[in-house]
Amino acid sequence: MSTDVPHQRAFTVEVTRSTRRRRSVGAQLVGNTLRVAIPSWMSRAEEQHWIDEMSRRFTRKLSADRIDLQARSRALARRHDLRRPTDIRWATDMTTRWGSCTPVTGTIRISDRIAAYPDWVVDYVIVHELCHLHVGGHGPDFWALVHRYQKAERAIGYLIAKAGSDDTDRDDTDRDDTDRADRADGIGD
Ligand SMILES: [Zn+2]
Repeated sequence: MSTDVPHQRAFTVEVTRSTRRRRSVGAQLVGNTLRVAIPSWMSRAEEQHWIDEMSRRFTRKLSADRIDLQARSRALARRHDLRRPTDIRWATDMTTRWGSCTPVTGTIRISDRIAAYPDWVVDYVIVHELCHLHVGGHGPDFWALVHRYQKAERAIGYLIAKAGSDDTDRDDTDRDDTDRADRADGIGD
C-alpha cells in the first residue's frame, strides 16, 4: 500500500455488494461517506483492495481540489521572477514522476500523488517545473534558478524520503520515454 495516504481518512467507507454489478467497481463520495459498490462475487481480499484503492484515489482528489494550481503557480512565478506556464494541471496517472514540463507548449503537469504533501513541498515541485520553462536538464544554471525557492533543499529531502518508502508505486520502465517526450521529473536529480 502506498505510504502517501494519510493515516486518518477524511471520510468513512461503506461497502455495498451488488448482484447487478458484474465487473466494475463504483465509488462515490456522499457527504463524509465514501460509498464503494463492488460485485457480489468478490472475495474479502478484493474488497479490501478496492477499499484501499478508492480511499487512496479520493484522498488524492480531495487534497488536489484544495490547491488551485493556476493561482499557486502564478504567485510562485511572480515571487521568484519565473515564467508562468500556459497551462498547469494535476495528473492522476503519473506513477514515477512528481511533475513534468513541456517547454515547447509551456504546459506543466503535477502528479496528484503529492497533493497531500505539505504546501512547501508542493510549491517546490511547481517551482522546479517552472524553472524548466527557462532551462532544460538539471545543470548548475537550472539549480541556481530552483534555489530562488528557499525551501528547495528541504523539499528535495522530503521527496527522497517519500520515494524510499514508496517502492510499490514506482515503475521505472516508462522513465526513459517520458524523459524524451517531455521534461519529466522524479525527485530532481
Ligand atoms: Zn527537473
